[in-house]
Amino acid sequence: LKGAQTRLAELLDGARRAVAFTGAGISTECGIPDFRSPGGLWTQNKPIPYDVFVAHKAARNEAWRRRFAMEEAFGDAKPGRGHRALARLLGEGRLAGVITQNIDGLHQASGIPDDRLVELHGNGTYAICLECGRRYELSWVRTRFEASGGIAPDCEACDGPVKSATISFGQAMPEKEMARAEALTRAADLFIVIGSSLVVYPAAGFPLRAKRAGARLAILNREPTDFDDIADMVTRSEIGDVLAPFVDEA
Ligand code: NAD
Repeated sequence: LKGAQTRLAELLDGARRAVAFTGAGISTECGIPDFRSPGGLWTQNKPIPYDVFVAHKAARNEAWRRRFAMEEAFGDAKPGRGHRALARLLGEGRLAGVITQNIDGLHQASGIPDDRLVELHGNGTYAICLECGRRYELSWVRTRFEASGGIAPDCEACDGPVKSATISFGQAMPEKEMARAEALTRAADLFIVIGSSLVVYPAAGFPLRAKRAGARLAILNREPTDFDDIADMVTRSEIGDVLAPFVDEA
């Protein structure tokens, strides 16, 4: 652990445009399970693909039932040591930005400003109409969902399907966010992967792109990834432990 902390500090000291790339693993110590670890979310529920959500009312009902069940389970989660360390590094000018696959909003909650944060898979804290793009707050959906005994509400303006503002399997990646992530990655001289199994594309393509563009690559992940061989540093220690020295305890 100590060796990993020292190595990471050295890499950060030598970097001018460090970028963090986070996955579900940074939020597990906050009580939000990841997808692929044993007991993770996928062992409980198979995700609902985008085309199924759009085509079937029953799928939308089920998606919203799960969303509100998650809210009950993890709605009170607070940023962990990993989130707080990144917020501090960013505040000190030692980190150029954060690219996340997470949808839990904990990077914002830790104080990372929107202009330094790229949410590749969207954000689960609000909803949008898939037809006209109108934004709805979760409370709007919840009120109607509960009043109807579990029926997903449609858009008030156009009757289109209303979906949480996250990216599902089979759904197009958000163009603006992809472009911002690519720009950060191209410019990075240190790319730090934190808590991602690096199996979901296109997100998982970023570490390779960073490396090819000349960045050093650090991987903080409990399990091996396909990119460990090309990394300049790999640690399997707990993310919160590795990043603890960078956390502002004040
Ligand atoms: P993943 O579940 O595939 O991988 C998480 C990785 O983190 C695993 O390899 C695991 O070994 C590692 N890990 C977990 N806790 C750790 C810890 N404390 N210390 C060190 N390593 C730890 O998740 P992913 O790669 O982010 O991708 C799956 C998709 O699921 C993404 O799109 C993501 O948005 C979504 N997801 C998001 C959340 C969230 O928002 N918190 C939660 C689950 C899944």
